[in-house]
This record gives sequence, C-alpha cells and structure tokens, in this order.
Amino acid sequence: MTTPTIELTRTQAPKPRPDDADLVFGKVMTDHMFLMDYEDGKGWHDPRIVPYGPLSMDPATSVLHYGQTVFDGLKAFRGPDGHIRLFRAQRHAERLNKSCAALCIPPMDTDLVRRSFEALVSVDNAWVPHRPGTSLYIRPTVVATEVQLGVHPAHRLTYFVICSPVGAYYKEGMKPVKILATDKYVRAVRGGLGEAKTAANYAASLAAAQDAEAQGYTQVLWLDGVERRYLDEVGTMNIMVKIGDEVITPPLAGTILDGVTRNSILTLLRDWGIKASERPITIDEVMQAGRDGTLAEMWGTGTAAVVSPVGLLGYKGEKLTINNGETGKLTQKLYDAIVAIQYGTAPDPHGWTSEV
Ligand code: PMP
Repeated sequence: MTTPTIELTRTQAPKPRPDDADLVFGKVMTDHMFLMDYEDGKGWHDPRIVPYGPLSMDPATSVLHYGQTVFDGLKAFRGPDGHIRLFRAQRHAERLNKSCAALCIPPMDTDLVRRSFEALVSVDNAWVPHRPGTSLYIRPTVVATEVQLGVHPAHRLTYFVICSPVGAYYKEGMKPVKILATDKYVRAVRGGLGEAKTAANYAASLAAAQDAEAQGYTQVLWLDGVERRYLDEVGTMNIMVKIGDEVITPPLAGTILDGVTRNSILTLLRDWGIKASERPITIDEVMQAGRDGTLAEMWGTGTAAVVSPVGLLGYKGEKLTINNGETGKLTQKLYDAIVAIQYGTAPDPHGWTSEV
C-alpha cells in the first residue's frame, strides 16, 4: 500500500500560547489541525495539516442530527530530557477504527491515523507544555458531513484532529473522588454503543452526572443496563477495585470502553505479580467487601487523570469510605509508574511511547 503524503499549510497568524501555569482542560487549541475527507468511490483522501479554524457546516449535515461521529483522546508528553512522546498512539488509532466500525464509518488506515497524531504534534511541538504534569491532549474525531436528513450511514465524512495543551491533573497531589453508583440511569447495554467512543454515550451520561453532582458526588459509577447490579465504568474512566490481594475490573463485554489506561495498568499489575482479574463484579460484592473491611482500594483509570482514587462510594443511601478516604498505596504506585513511562523518566519495557 502506498503511504499518502500529508500536505502542510502553515498558519500565517500563530496565536499567543498560554503560560503553562494557567492551563485548564480543553479551552485553548493549538495553531493547526489535521483534516482528511471520505467520499464513496474515493475512500479516505487528501490528508492535510492546515491552520486551526472553524468547520463550515450546512444545518442539514447529518452528524448534527443523528450523531454519526466517533472520537478518541490521547496525550503527548514533554519529558525532562526535552523529548516529546506519545503514549500508545497505535492502540488509540486502532480503538478509533473499532469505534468507526460500530457507527458504520468506513475504516481508516491505522498507520495513517497514528501518523496524523505524530505529524500534527510535530508541527505544533512548541505547544507541548514544559511544566511537570502538563501535556498536549490530542482529539481525533470523525463526523458525518453528508448534507441530508435521511437516517442512514453517511457517504461523506471528515476526519479531523485537534490538540489542546492541558495542565497537571493533580496540582496538589492525588485527590480521592466521591462516586455514586446509580440504578436510576443506565449508560449502555450489550448490543448498543457502550464500547464505542461516540457522542451518544456522553450525551446519555449528562443527566445522571448532574444528579450525582447535586448530591455532592464527583462522578457516576455506571451499573449494567439490564440487571443494574454489575459494575460497568465510572464517569469517563474504567473502574478497578482491590479486594484482599486481588485487583478486579469488569470484563470487556461490549458495554464499556476498552480503556488504554486500563490495559496498561492490567499489564503492569501482572508484570508485578499481582493478581488482576477481568470479571463481572456486582455492586453488592463491593459494598459487602467495604463493610467487612476487605475492600482495600478503588480507583478509576483514564487518559485524563491516569488513575483517580475513590475515597467514597455511595449506593442506595449508604456511604462507604474507602481506605479512610485516602489514596491507596497501590493506586499511587500505579500512577507513579505510568507517569514515569509517559515522561520518559523510567524504562518503557512494553514500547508504549513513541517519540515525535
Ligand atoms: N471509559 C470512558 C467512557 C471514557 O470516556 C474513557 C476515556 N477515554 C475511559 C473509559 C478511559 O479510557 P482511556 O484509558 O483509553 O483514556
């Protein structure tokens, strides 16, 4: 297969870059974006990097009505050695393609998708912040751009990648979150879109998240959509619990995202000889372990926070404090290990990072 050339048009009006100390998540975008188009008959074509700017859309563009869209999210890190590294770029490219398949979006060449990240970060390399804990968030997205109001898979689509410098997630050390297990709302069911990274899943989460926040919680712990008993995931993270000496996380059974951080953490745990099980686990089992003192630690995993300790779990009016509301030892060790690989301060035995 021929490797398409990525055309580059540089901006004539570079924007002022924010100070590393002022960065917040997802508010400022870099100077350039990557674009590629799809049309039936032509396939994916015309990969290019152009100055960042609005996408002009007819109000009848199908994505605006029926949400045929997928995205992903990964990060580039500047190490103390000055080198810029992407974390598991190929795996993110492959996951984007899996999401495409779920939404009837024609597959892309995953090597080209990975190159789209690398090329864009390389052009906008000055935007990768320097401060410890900061990073450049990369958001690849596909949208159906066909102008039509019929419900069917689009014959025209656009792939774009944008980037945003982000601040340190934990500025003052890790902060345990409060999560609420809900049996009132569901996020996904088997045979649905739960394992795809698509707008609908995030739209489905908004009301529940608002409800949880009103009750003083940070995130929703989603239970399965049928029996409303089994743990699925938490907010925009996968969930893990340590009961006794075993780490348990729900299996990839079609309703949760195949988190890249989840996979990385399972790999590290197994490297370290810690039992890590992917199996269904009920909220009752977790609550019971909390009551009898065997629930040692609980954390969420995701690109944004790496790991997010859970200090309090609410369910049916009961409030369970986990590890005295403090960050657990294993939670901290996992965070430190992943972050060290991301910033290039520890060896990378699984080849997860790639330099730009
Ligand atoms: N679940 C959901 C619903 C998410 O949005 C995310 C964030 N991408 C995750 C899990 C964690 O995935 P990852 O570790 O790949 O960021």
